[in-house]
Amino acid sequence: MTNSADAAGDHESYDLAVVGAGPAGLAAAASAAEHGVRVALLDGAPQPGGQFYRQPAAELRAERPQALHHHWSAFQHLLARLDAVRERVTLLSDHHVWSVTGGSGAFAVHALTGPDQRQARSLTARQVLFATGAHERQLPFPGWTLPGVVGAGGAQAMLKAGLVLPGRRVLVAGSGPLLLAVAASLTAAGATVPLVAEAAGYLGYARGARVLAANAGKLVEGAQHGATLLRHGVRLRPRTAVVAAHGTDRVEAVTLARLDAAWRPLSGTQWRVPCDAVAVGHGLVPQLELPLEFGCHTRRLPDGSAALVVDAAQRTTVPGVWAAGESTGVGGVQLAITEGELAGLAVAGQNTAPRSLLRRRSRQRAFADLMAARHAPGSGWTQWLDDATEVCRCEEVTARQVRDAVAELGAADQRTVKLLTRAGMGWCQARMCGPAVARLCGAPNADRHDDGAPTRPLSTPVPLGLLAECDTNAPSSEGAPR
Ligand SMILES: Cc1cc2nc3c(=O)[nH]c(=O)nc-3n(C[C@H](O)[C@H](O)[C@H](O)COP(=O)(O)OP(=O)(O)OC[C@H]3O[C@@H](n4cnc5c(N)ncnc54)[C@H](O)[C@@H]3O)c2cc1C
Repeated sequence: MTNSADAAGDHESYDLAVVGAGPAGLAAAASAAEHGVRVALLDGAPQPGGQFYRQPAAELRAERPQALHHHWSAFQHLLARLDAVRERVTLLSDHHVWSVTGGSGAFAVHALTGPDQRQARSLTARQVLFATGAHERQLPFPGWTLPGVVGAGGAQAMLKAGLVLPGRRVLVAGSGPLLLAVAASLTAAGATVPLVAEAAGYLGYARGARVLAANAGKLVEGAQHGATLLRHGVRLRPRTAVVAAHGTDRVEAVTLARLDAAWRPLSGTQWRVPCDAVAVGHGLVPQLELPLEFGCHTRRLPDGSAALVVDAAQRTTVPGVWAAGESTGVGGVQLAITEGELAGLAVAGQNTAPRSLLRRRSRQRAFADLMAARHAPGSGWTQWLDDATEVCRCEEVTARQVRDAVAELGAADQRTVKLLTRAGMGWCQARMCGPAVARLCGAPNADRHDDGAPTRPLSTPVPLGLLAECDTNAPSSEGAPR
């Protein structure tokens, strides 16, 4: 695989542009290139691997980066496959794609690169594959903006990329299987984890016994994390949430509460636990800015979030546009690789995918659906917000301001709340506060794509000067972003 992160050529032309070099994008690029497809593989990160195979920065000179990873051999295998077809794969690391335009066999992919992401680079491709992964769902609570409160995935990223811990005594909280992986990594790296608070219950998994039996590898992985936690004396508390964080300059303690099935805190069950960091995340949400802007249709996942609709060959609803991995539904690294393989084969015109691969995808997708259903946020979590809780961190909008917009000014959707309060207008463009605002204004699903929220022409902030210089000769057609 050629790494041309420093090259400056404009308008190179490829058969396929893969956006995202995580497990799904790597697998897609490898399987397509193995069948003769010329691929550009773009990623905003400095190294390929995505969230799961995030590696320490080169200057840290880690001797055993694999020590922090499961399934490292699968990553090595993907890299070796890509190396074997390096004349057909151009890796563009540090390339943040801000827009894809065109359609019908002629797409233009626009990226920012270089120091401070201020250099423009565009390329053309006959087909595009979105493997843009997911981001964490954050549900606010009083004190969640204190230094020391970090995302659960963020804590994992700090450890994998920076070899640092967010604190010495780190409470892990939120919902979803990622919490177990994060707690196991933190303890293995030397942190004390006093408790893992899981807002959902685990008993519901029993209803999916057949799905679990078909995905025995997942059970083994869960058991391995469980054994690590047991060895380090970490307690796992289901139906429990952090309902407040306390501290002056940084977090010093949290209040935990038992929850009912709808995630409402049960009165009289609160207790305080000292800690110097909190790693909290309430599951993952597919990252869809680019494909949504392109008009790709979405479907609703069992946890209420939106994911791309794809057919058996991983085609989206827009001709020439494909998707794989968490952008089609959060399901873990193995599913991402399976989908990438299938998409790469289909892009290369290999119309009959191996049956074993198709079966693996259905089995892994069934597990993903089970997991999403079991960890879907209950509607009662808004009860742990007090009026002063900042819901939108970028614009410093409180729960009180959002509630007033709804109760006194009649806002009934996220967009109107945004116009009235600025919630969601900041740097992250509602990626963080969207689910919370939607829930507070009574939108049926706490996801920012459901309530008519407008799509955005740019997936990341772009300097005006670059926009002005943007090549107007780039392909454009009816598929172009609005
Ligand atoms: C913060 C976080 C931490 C996680 N940690 C773990 C863990 O420890 N254990 C575990 O089992 N699972 C973890 N997961 C889930 C795991 O990452 C996924 O199951 C798996 O990596 C999915 O692979 P993917 O290729 O679909 O997406 P990802 O691995 O997320 O890869 C997507 C890639 O797309 C790139 N990208 C996105 N948008 C653009 C753009 N506009 N331009 C250029 N590049 C772009 C990203 O930089 C990223 O490299 C984590 C997820 C997150 C969000």
